[in-house]
Amino acid sequence: MLAVAAGAAVSAASAGSVMDVAGTHSAEAGDIALLANGEAAPATGTPDAPSSSTSATPSLPEPVVVSAFDSTAENAQSAMLYAGTEINTQREIAEEQARRPKVALPAEGTFTSGFGMRWGAMHAGIDIANANGTPILAATDGVVIDSGPAQGFGNWIRIMSDDGTMTVYGHMESLDVREGERVYAGQKIAGMGNMGFSTGSHLHFEVLLDGSQHVDPVIWLAQHGIYLAGAGSVEGSTSSPFGS
Ligand SMILES: [Zn+2]
Repeated sequence: MLAVAAGAAVSAASAGSVMDVAGTHSAEAGDIALLANGEAAPATGTPDAPSSSTSATPSLPEPVVVSAFDSTAENAQSAMLYAGTEINTQREIAEEQARRPKVALPAEGTFTSGFGMRWGAMHAGIDIANANGTPILAATDGVVIDSGPAQGFGNWIRIMSDDGTMTVYGHMESLDVREGERVYAGQKIAGMGNMGFSTGSHLHFEVLLDGSQHVDPVIWLAQHGIYLAGAGSVEGSTSSPFGS
């Protein structure tokens, strides 16, 4: 029954369109003339024309509506699928960024000196000792604002992060980044060394909030989920020979 009805509807639609075309497009003079005369001369029309009677027209709107609904639903579905793909891609990028450490431990090694007063002077950072050439990593995403020689540091690198936190790295024997370069947390920026005021191969590392306020890097690292082995005490001033 449905199939028959659909078939009838289709042929009705076809007939309707044929008649519409005939009625509105006067360019097709031959057809118009035949229909206008009312003479049964369907031979020149389409194959559907003979079977179509004018009584089929009332059912014309129905198939059109159903057809339009189907195609709309299909379009909506593919639009949703497309949108879903977009969202997934964005989510994957976000997840990859989330997996990347926002803050990275700047160097592996032995914690040899803490933040605070030491030998009667302020030690504004921490020291992590390891072999010459040990990778020094950017602790945060940011822009390198200095990379080169500096008094006392031998060489230093300073990185300004997007949130205004500045990190300082000292005594490196080799530098892998240049001023103005964009770096990301965990990226190798230098090789550990014993340059400047230093008594052994180590990294001197400082953290300055708002680019100016020194804070204890051990605490700052811990606040970002990074715990430095051997840095349980925040007292500083160990008696290690490696310092500055
Ligand atoms: Zn130091």
